[in-house]
Amino acid sequence: MKVLKFGGTSVGSVESLLNVKKITESIDGDTVIVVSALGGLTDRLIATARMAADGDDNYRLEMEAISSRHFNIISNVVDDSKRARVISVVSGLLAELKRNYDGVFLLRDLPSRTLDTIVSFGERMSSVIVGAMIDGASLHDSMEFIKTEKWFSKDIADQKLTSRLIREEFKGFSGKAVCPGFISTDKKSGEITNLGRGGSDFSAALIAAALNADVLEIWTDVDGFMTADPRIIPESIVVSHMTFVESMELCSFGAKVIYPPTIYPVFHKNIPIRILNTFNPSAPGTLITDIAMPDDLEIKGISAIRGTSLFSLSGKAAQNTPMINSRTFNAMARMGIKVFLVSGPDGAHEFTFAVSDTDADNALHTLKSEFAPELANGSLAEPLHTDRLATVAVVGVNMRSRNRLSARIINTLRRNSIDVAAFSYGVSDTTISFVVPLDETDHALRLIHSLIY
Ligand code: ASP
Ligand code: MG
Repeated sequence: MKVLKFGGTSVGSVESLLNVKKITESIDGDTVIVVSALGGLTDRLIATARMAADGDDNYRLEMEAISSRHFNIISNVVDDSKRARVISVVSGLLAELKRNYDGVFLLRDLPSRTLDTIVSFGERMSSVIVGAMIDGASLHDSMEFIKTEKWFSKDIADQKLTSRLIREEFKGFSGKAVCPGFISTDKKSGEITNLGRGGSDFSAALIAAALNADVLEIWTDVDGFMTADPRIIPESIVVSHMTFVESMELCSFGAKVIYPPTIYPVFHKNIPIRILNTFNPSAPGTLITDIAMPDDLEIKGISAIRGTSLFSLSGKAAQNTPMINSRTFNAMARMGIKVFLVSGPDGAHEFTFAVSDTDADNALHTLKSEFAPELANGSLAEPLHTDRLATVAVVGVNMRSRNRLSARIINTLRRNSIDVAAFSYGVSDTTISFVVPLDETDHALRLIHSLIY
């Protein structure tokens, strides 16, 4: 059994859909095919909902454009014998979508559950089209078996229940199945939910893990993981193999190849992931498995998180690194704030960590309440906060022993007048990272890339 996921660009045009047809029809064994909405559609569904909520009746024109895009695709990729049926199903979905927009327009209100319903139409329509396009494929409704539960204000997958429902759905299955990615339902209320932007990868991973697939193939519009973003560094090269841990690090540090949560369920089951290009299907892509291979690149890549905020705590209490560390991490975790860098273990006088700019206000508030006693008695000074920074990460093997590389990178950056506000070396064996000014991100990436490769 294989699980294949095709992203928005792969299902976004007639040409790419014909590639999808060729790729999937040439597979012999049992295959589950998970699809995103047509490229760019989710953004457009959201923008149109906002228009309607703002009382802008141009939402109707947008609605028409969305309809004609789907009908045009159907008439070019779906076989004559099935076209009338597909047009009728998609027309029904479009009518329902329109009713949702009309409601939002009338009420001038866009509750989050209504937006969840609105965005669900993207994958519901694309899966109907792809299901009819691929010879002999059956269509399966992910909303029946991908279940979420509320966790604070987020919907997160109930993986145990989902896994059981997937196994029931596919009991005795053979042949080819098509499922919409991204969408799900709340396990209690049955309301439509989703797994978050980019979540189709995660849908595919949940299915692959539940069915013990032999491989999870993520079909996208790039040749695989690259040593850096090729739009910034044209000399970057495809990485043919890396480990689950390395891919997780690269993704959490801004590489946009796969949605980071995707990796956990398949990692847990040790199911390899292959990243492949729908527009260049014969390219070998990137293989991700559990252990390193003999001719792996030592450094797998460089990526950046743009919009980093740095916080520093100083004072007597800050010298108790283990205490400060665990209290900070726990307090941030309780608030759902991801801490992605702490300064090296030898930074004794100051405790420094980074979060995304979008979490900065929340993080400052959390710090102040967690350390209220220390701030009151003066054993900690007021936290220092710097924003408009970026975190550049270098991911590879044995990073904990690369002190020379780390020093060379810092020297190179400083020699080129890039201020390194913090760095993290020795904390992880997979990643070393550097905090630089936001507007120097590309410059820093280029300097580090040419130093390493
Ligand atoms: N269509 C959704 C999005 O654009 C999910 C996905 O493509 O993975 O976020
Ligand atoms: Mg998409």
